[in-house]
Amino acid sequence: MAGEYVKGALEVADGVWAYLQPDGSWGWSNAGLVCGPEGSLLVDTLFDLDLTREMIDVLAGRATPNAPISTVVNTHANGDHCYGNWLVRDAEIVASKACAAEMAKSPPSEMAATMAGVDDAGQVGAFLKAIFGAFNFDGIEAALPSRVFEGELELKVGDRTVKLIEVGPAHTGGDVIVYLPDERVVFTGDIVFHGGHPIIWAGPVANWIAACERVAALGPSVVVPGHGPLAGPEVLDDLIGYFRWLFEEARVRFEAGMTAPDAAADIGTGPYSGWTDSERMAVNVRAVYRDLGATLDMRRGSSGSVFAAMADLYWRSRR
Ligand SMILES: [Zn+2]
Repeated sequence: MAGEYVKGALEVADGVWAYLQPDGSWGWSNAGLVCGPEGSLLVDTLFDLDLTREMIDVLAGRATPNAPISTVVNTHANGDHCYGNWLVRDAEIVASKACAAEMAKSPPSEMAATMAGVDDAGQVGAFLKAIFGAFNFDGIEAALPSRVFEGELELKVGDRTVKLIEVGPAHTGGDVIVYLPDERVVFTGDIVFHGGHPIIWAGPVANWIAACERVAALGPSVVVPGHGPLAGPEVLDDLIGYFRWLFEEARVRFEAGMTAPDAAADIGTGPYSGWTDSERMAVNVRAVYRDLGATLDMRRGSSGSVFAAMADLYWRSRR
């Protein structure tokens, strides 16, 4: 499905809205609203409180009058999908059990502390400032899920059926997709990046491919990605192709004894030069190496951290 890629709400089925934030790069995530007669369901909040407040105001004008947001589903624990939860803390907040555990481990205060130190953090700091400098993390309090599930959970919004399906670990440990079978609309969270490189925080890669196949098997006509413009089901084939390409390119270099950073630089972007955020190849190649049995430290703050590896690729491509 085509659709204008402009900031704001777009109706993807009767009473079902996507909220898009171009350009879909780091932190510029999408969300959604499923309207009901007495309450509505919000899929994800945004990276900071100002952006989330702006979105809620826009969506309030689309919702059934006097039907507040009564349910929030967080598709995963990355801040650009849940830091705005504080503004909807009176709603029931639903997530997978694994997502809730990850949210508890990386509160907004951690991001605020990281960003407070970017000016003293060399090229990594400059990278973080370039990708996250537009957001305001000061004073955000966490609002954690009040209801968790494992596997699948079916909710009702008025007469509408809303299926939550856990497909992680893939992008993160607790990824969930939100599917409306009658409307054939799926909100994928970051299982789908459209127009940019995905980033494999968790993996394994095979599980992300399986997640794409599972979403495709639902037969959606509209795919609302976690980042990027609206799509049709063909976006799932594109991603599966990407992961197969990535895995094969990384595997041959792993078996030849190349280090992960060298492999990422050597692979380049292949047929994906038109996709944004190519520095994520540093993380994605590491993820494949880990799948193949390499022991790599993936923690955010560790020396040789994934952000340092991405900063290397990012600045190299700009020199
Ligand atoms: Zn995201």
